Amino acid sequence: KRLEELNVEDTTCGYCAVGCRFDLYSDGEEVLAARPTDEDAPVNGISTCVKGKFSYDFVNSDDRLTAPLVRDESGEFREATWDVALSRVAEGLGSIRDEHGGEALSVIASSKATNEDNYLMGKFARQVLGTNSVDNCNRLCHSSTVAGLAKTYGYGAASISTDDFELADCILLTGSNTTEAHPVLATRIKQNVRDGGDLIVFDPREVQIAEYATQYTQIKPGYDAVWINGITRYIINNDLYDEEFVQERTTGFEDVKEAVQKFTPERVEEVTGARPEAIASAAETIAEANRCIFGWTLGLTEHSHGTENVMAMANLAAITGNLGKPGAGVSPFRGQNNVQGGGGDMGPLPDSFPGYQDIADDEVRAKFEDAWDCEISPEYGYYTTQMFLEADDDHVRGMYIIGENAALSEPGVNHAEDVLENLDFLVVQDLFMTETARYADVVLPACSFVEKTGTFTNTDRTVQKVNKVMEPKGESRPDWQILQDLANRMGREWDYDSAAEIMDEVNSLTPLYGGVTHERVEAEGGLQWPCWDEDHPGTKRLYTEEFDTEDGMANLHAIGYSEPAETPDNEYPFTLTTGRVLYQYHTGTMTHREEGIMQYNPSDFVEINPKTANEYGIENGDPVRIESRRGETTVPAQVTDRVGPENLFVPIHFAESAVNRLTDEDRLDPAASTPEFKVSAVKIAAV
Ligand code: SF4
Repeated sequence: KRLEELNVEDTTCGYCAVGCRFDLYSDGEEVLAARPTDEDAPVNGISTCVKGKFSYDFVNSDDRLTAPLVRDESGEFREATWDVALSRVAEGLGSIRDEHGGEALSVIASSKATNEDNYLMGKFARQVLGTNSVDNCNRLCHSSTVAGLAKTYGYGAASISTDDFELADCILLTGSNTTEAHPVLATRIKQNVRDGGDLIVFDPREVQIAEYATQYTQIKPGYDAVWINGITRYIINNDLYDEEFVQERTTGFEDVKEAVQKFTPERVEEVTGARPEAIASAAETIAEANRCIFGWTLGLTEHSHGTENVMAMANLAAITGNLGKPGAGVSPFRGQNNVQGGGGDMGPLPDSFPGYQDIADDEVRAKFEDAWDCEISPEYGYYTTQMFLEADDDHVRGMYIIGENAALSEPGVNHAEDVLENLDFLVVQDLFMTETARYADVVLPACSFVEKTGTFTNTDRTVQKVNKVMEPKGESRPDWQILQDLANRMGREWDYDSAAEIMDEVNSLTPLYGGVTHERVEAEGGLQWPCWDEDHPGTKRLYTEEFDTEDGMANLHAIGYSEPAETPDNEYPFTLTTGRVLYQYHTGTMTHREEGIMQYNPSDFVEINPKTANEYGIENGDPVRIESRRGETTVPAQVTDRVGPENLFVPIHFAESAVNRLTDEDRLDPAASTPEFKVSAVKIAAV
């Protein structure tokens, strides 16, 4: 069919949190084309990446769940009506709540779902189930960013807009495979370099964006605060810091100055492998730049001391005065499409209501108790990682997992599988029969972003509209409608007619979103929070006047030496890191249904240095067994000097390789409970 004959809606990408806008064309059965909306789209202008352009076969896949499934007495799944399935869920969750208290239940919300869906997931947990144990995939990735930035500056989010990447003189990137994980953002960074900007990359892997770097330093995984403190030391000791900014807008500088003295060039080189001249050169380039952006992804955060890594970076940005002005600031690139909004802002969190309002604050709690007509405990619930550690008869007995494939994405999935197997009751809501759904008592079919209306919030805090392009497949439904039905079966009287109505409730309770309505988001093409009221234009850059801390200053903290909780030894001599590739998306539930994508990237692999490969007699494509203290997996080798001889890299996308059998459920960041995905001690063998 010609494009003009198809239904078309402009919407926001459901893959990564860059948040590209485009028109989607559908004949009502499937998505047939995606075209960038216009040059004024807030993020992407005229381009999208391969996923945004082509990856829509999943919507109409034969694998889609099109009716609820209920496990019968023989243990088999049987299709059921919505009425039967929801009654079964209400009974399963309700009986645990009534017998053991709401705390015996946990909810895992979905960063792939809309803001409106996620707001109701948090409300459902607290109001209907009576538990504060509600969390999401944010725990596995950027929670350490949120904890570290919130403690230093006030907000746990990017301080800048995507446009600022055009204005920066210098960009420091670390732990970010930007070209593959955030492709359109990478294009903008590369453009900055072509225009004469400096790009400094510190990364254990020579990722593709490093090819564009004016300075690239390969570092040992797990010691980021060490090289960052080394740069900070150089800048302070050579009087290259922004004295005026430090005096007028920060506290704690003297503590930082003292703490970084032990990070001498020799020590930094010994621990991280970064040569003294690389530290000096990076420090001088950052200090000379008028405007520098500090960008990172999960290479900085997924550690047992990720929060400290982030705080070390926050110190560096502050002492160089790179906050609150155009082309300068911090930018943690969020991963899933709506992890900023759905995973954080909307408050499906064990310690916060929407807008990061603390549940332990009596006044805040009273506001939500009043609005939601329920009592809420001031005790924080379990983080996702803790839910799996605390699943037993005395703590977590039942789970409601929405759009999260925990059986592949949790650290130490051998343990996660045991937990899922032994729960008293598990309900999973998803598009597909995922590895997690196989353990469920009831599986509820949700619909994708293509089939519903709502909003996503991207990595630079822009709330954007999601518009329904086609009707939900089969009997699948938007998450918010499923939650509403369930809440009403469990004694509540929810009466939302639309996602817009839900957003109106959000903005009435959430100062950060005070002026966000569907009408405005649609009319203005996007709104960046904080957006305090209907007349507020939104906020392009944070901290232009003051920080969101009690004293309005950036509160710098001394960061000392930390090392990974598990380091290589004679038995397990290699350091394994995990991550993403361009063509796949997380556990592959969507991208594995795209034939073209699967031709490019049909399986996970292990990147292995030529020297190591030679030592073990491994050639390109050979199967390699990788073993840690938690488990083992076998994947084909990709021999490359992208990784150093002591390191290995395996992507996270396939159940067949399930690299999280090797990671550890117990090694968590103490402040954020984020797992140490980026460092596991392993051994290898040619198979
Ligand atoms: Fe979608 Fe991210 Fe690709 Fe943009 S860069 S099209 S948001 S996956």
